Amino acid sequence: MSQIKISGLCAAVVLCFGSHSFAADQNLNTDLIVVGAGSAGLSAAVQGAELGKKVILLEKNPYVGGNSQHAEGLFAVDSEWNRLRGDPLTRQEAYRQFIERQNHLVDPYKNKDFVEGSAENIEWLSKHGIEFEVIRETPLKDNTWHIIKNYKGVNHGAGLIKGMKDAADKLGVQTMLATPAVDLIKKDDKVVGVIAKDNKGNTYHISGKAVILASGSFGDDPKKVAEWGHRDPEAWKSSVPINKTGDGIVMAMKAGAERGPVSFIGHLGTEGKGIKFLSNLYGTSWQPFNLWVNRDGLRFTDESQCNAFSEAANAIYAQPGHYGWCIFDENTVKYLMEKGASSGIGVLVPIGTKYANLQKDIDEALAADSDGFKSASTVAGLAKAINVPAAALEKTVAEYNKNCELQSDPMFLKDRRYLVPIEGKKLYALKLKSYFFSAYGGLITNRDHQVLDKDSRPIKGLYAAGLEVSNMVGPTYPDFFSGHAFGFASYSGRHAAINAVKEMK
Ligand SMILES: Cc1cc2nc3c(=O)[nH]c(=O)nc-3n(C[C@H](O)[C@H](O)[C@H](O)COP(=O)(O)OP(=O)(O)OC[C@H]3O[C@@H](n4cnc5c(N)ncnc54)[C@H](O)[C@@H]3O)c2cc1C
Repeated sequence: MSQIKISGLCAAVVLCFGSHSFAADQNLNTDLIVVGAGSAGLSAAVQGAELGKKVILLEKNPYVGGNSQHAEGLFAVDSEWNRLRGDPLTRQEAYRQFIERQNHLVDPYKNKDFVEGSAENIEWLSKHGIEFEVIRETPLKDNTWHIIKNYKGVNHGAGLIKGMKDAADKLGVQTMLATPAVDLIKKDDKVVGVIAKDNKGNTYHISGKAVILASGSFGDDPKKVAEWGHRDPEAWKSSVPINKTGDGIVMAMKAGAERGPVSFIGHLGTEGKGIKFLSNLYGTSWQPFNLWVNRDGLRFTDESQCNAFSEAANAIYAQPGHYGWCIFDENTVKYLMEKGASSGIGVLVPIGTKYANLQKDIDEALAADSDGFKSASTVAGLAKAINVPAAALEKTVAEYNKNCELQSDPMFLKDRRYLVPIEGKKLYALKLKSYFFSAYGGLITNRDHQVLDKDSRPIKGLYAAGLEVSNMVGPTYPDFFSGHAFGFASYSGRHAAINAVKEMK
């Protein structure tokens, strides 16, 4: 910690956390400083500006959007869109289910506020010209997923980001791209500003009445994935890395914040030479008809668990070596090509999509001698190709096929709709691995979204929103309520701004 004097910023001596050059290239003054221009940060900036405040929005990347740019829909319950469809889920029931299924390892108050406020947040977004439709992602889920259908011709997360950025520009928010926040400025016991550095080496000392951290957690820093998340970063990887390294969490900790529990939005998937992300071959790893085995040749879960992507990521990660193999035959290939997918990958690849390119993808991966995809004409041959004991795999396939014949899976209770035998002449094995869309958590906040210190007292002037916030979800992301993270990001950004502005008066 060092003491510095910043002329023009304020007359008093300010405390600054961290070691860096204090060449004060520019001093800026505003009401609200928002760190991170994803859905949480943009919603905070727009809301703050709508309440009449001057806002500076800092973004590390040379573009806005963060992971939110790739998201699809936001959780809300009992919205106007739900009511017009006649969806029966109530706010009370959603809250009860959520708390119970997260084993009470969450903040009950913040989750209650979010469930109660989720519908109003969608209405606020729609007032900014963002259009929604509500869908369920898989047959297992309720209709809570408010997908962005359109904003000026753009859909999904990119539509929300464009809508919020347009609103921010119109309201006069000053957005500084490629200018990451590197430190907080604290005076006495209050956060009074942020230090940021742009990619040209300029340093900005920005004073403000409140700071909202919305830098999207730490998922792209493998060291923190291991140390904070307790996962092997080689086997638990960020699927869309954008250089999110937990900056907001680290800065807040230097200012006295307590680091809270963290988790991930895990998902299953595959990789290897000749396999493209979201290709038809990639999508085959998400299908419920397949047989999954570990490297010992044993089944390890109900394969229709692919409909619950976070739980599927856990099941794969728990296997020896943190991987598995997804086994299918040419009958499945024919079905996927002609009839379509039984499980979607969000709305990026919707249920029912015909996998017309699957045979081409298969041929390409085999031609590339892919380490993630193998083929053989017998079970023993396939076992050799994937280095699994042949006797064990033959036994597993025989038992599985018997279950399919009897339409009963006594061990894993797989839904009999998905019990289809592996019996073709062309057999395939696709490597199964675990990934995550985003890390989730890092800072403990109260109901007003203020960041708490080690004694659970709010740090004055400091707020956090979106993925940065701990205790919204438990150790496993609640993918049964589609859109929880995206919904909370926008909701909490807005409400952090509302509370920060209230505090300014
Ligand atoms: C492919 C994909 C699909 C997804 N689909 C969904 C979905 O449908 N529903 C759902 O609920 N969730 C989904 N998610 C998760 C989604 O990431 C979160 O729901 C949501 O985007 C979180 O928003 P955020 O604003 O907290 O974080 P982000 O959108 O990631 O924004 C954080 C921003 O902070 C910036 N930043 C980082 N450090 C600094 C710094 N030091 N200074 C300034 N800026 C900084 C980052 O560059 C980034 O722009 C998906 C994720 C992916 C990758």
